[in-house]
Amino acid sequence: MKYEPVIGLEIHAELLTNSKAFCSCSADYSSAPEANTNICPVCTGLPGALPVLNKKAVELSALVALALNCSINHLNTFARKNYYYPDLPKGYQISQYELPIGEKGALKILDDSLTVRVRRTHLEEDTAKLAHEKGAALVDFNRAGVPLLEIVSEPDMRNAEQALDYATKIRAILRYLGVNSGDMEKGVIRFEANVSVRPVGSDELRTRTEIKNLNSFRALTRSIEYEIQRQSKVYDEGGTVVQETLGWDDVRGVTVSQRGKEDAHDYRYFPEPDLPPLKVDSAWVENIRAQLPELPEAKTSRFVNQFELKENDARFLTVEKALADYFEAVVAKSKSPAKAIHSWIAGEFMRYLNDNGIEIQNVALAPESFAKLIDMVTDKTIGASAAKTVLIELFTNGGDPAQIVKDKNLAQMSDVGAIQELVTKILNDNPKEVEQYLSGKDTLFQWFMGQVARATKGKADPNVAKELMVKGLEERGK
Ligand code: ADP
Ligand code: MG
Ligand code: ZN
Repeated sequence: MKYEPVIGLEIHAELLTNSKAFCSCSADYSSAPEANTNICPVCTGLPGALPVLNKKAVELSALVALALNCSINHLNTFARKNYYYPDLPKGYQISQYELPIGEKGALKILDDSLTVRVRRTHLEEDTAKLAHEKGAALVDFNRAGVPLLEIVSEPDMRNAEQALDYATKIRAILRYLGVNSGDMEKGVIRFEANVSVRPVGSDELRTRTEIKNLNSFRALTRSIEYEIQRQSKVYDEGGTVVQETLGWDDVRGVTVSQRGKEDAHDYRYFPEPDLPPLKVDSAWVENIRAQLPELPEAKTSRFVNQFELKENDARFLTVEKALADYFEAVVAKSKSPAKAIHSWIAGEFMRYLNDNGIEIQNVALAPESFAKLIDMVTDKTIGASAAKTVLIELFTNGGDPAQIVKDKNLAQMSDVGAIQELVTKILNDNPKEVEQYLSGKDTLFQWFMGQVARATKGKADPNVAKELMVKGLEERGK
């Protein structure tokens, strides 16, 4: 039978606040000198310790909710989600249950071809970190209590590609907002995929499985694809899919059962008695809304209109805010068309960054220098291959592009008279090749052009040289 996958994502993102969600300990656990140094009675769950809500965490949560087009609840409540695990010192997690900060949002994905509804965004706290070493389980509470925003989608996605684009877009938005670094390797953002399959044409919601703690886009895609295949096979063989929590074994490329899935009632949610309900008024919400920066979608449209870029090219530039800013900085300093600047950035520039593992934030090449370089290509001072040489020099040693061109003698030879002289000389010096060419050996044309390149060290304007060579050969054929 043919099946249609149904996918909903839960995304957990730590918020970049200074202090933890309910105490004044630093939230920057990755800079802690040692395990269990970043802790206090509140985040280690000592009896009698009382939580105090971090205002900044609420503001950042609302910012994300608004960016995802959610409506903001004016009354927020906190709840205890009870379960026992060694990484949860209180025996419960403070979360939002009945009244989360944001609800009923939406995000357009894949060139606006699909709208994924965002069910809710709620604020909660991260757990401690467990490490298993030499037969012992070690617990580090430095991360316990770091504010965590959970973003829950409706089950609106139908394949791994859609899930990937949704996750990519959410990550980009969080980075644009500056609320999360998006560093998946460090686990500051984690994905959970809920997957079920149903017969094509049906609109029932079948039993789903939940794949936990996916910390790369590759793992997200592969695990969803695997789970779709696995469940389809279960149904084909007449079996039933069991609702459960799965892990992803990246080495073997399979999902593995971790535990039977809990339902909400298993957590015995009840209102957190130590935190009063939080009221936010419209003025506060509007104040947060006013802080929203231009987000990737809006920036893409603006780039298309303002710089006449193709939509895909604009999208490429706006995936990372830092890259979009860099592009705009080069455009502002350059006389070349924005399209040419996009080509250089998407081409040689990105290639260098990728090959050398450099992040756009850390690029030492000043936009002014890059603009100068591109302008020298536009006005034909240098050719494309010379420009690559200059670019590498700028990346490695810095300097002034015009000076580098001078020092390395890279200026393009576009003096038509000089090129003509050279072409004539090459044709005179090689009568045998000219004859072979004229009697039909067309491939020799490249050889003649090679002679020009050799004599000029590749600096002759290739278009001019080609034109003169064609003319020269034609004349000799008459
Ligand atoms: P819980 O809070 O117990 O994890 P929810 O019902 O709130 O469960 O759903 C969590 C996630 O699972 C949501 O992202 C939702 O879109 C998704 N989901 C719910 N039902 C299905 C289903 N039948 N197939 C795939 N995903 C589903
Ligand atoms: Mg869940
Ligand atoms: Zn603390």
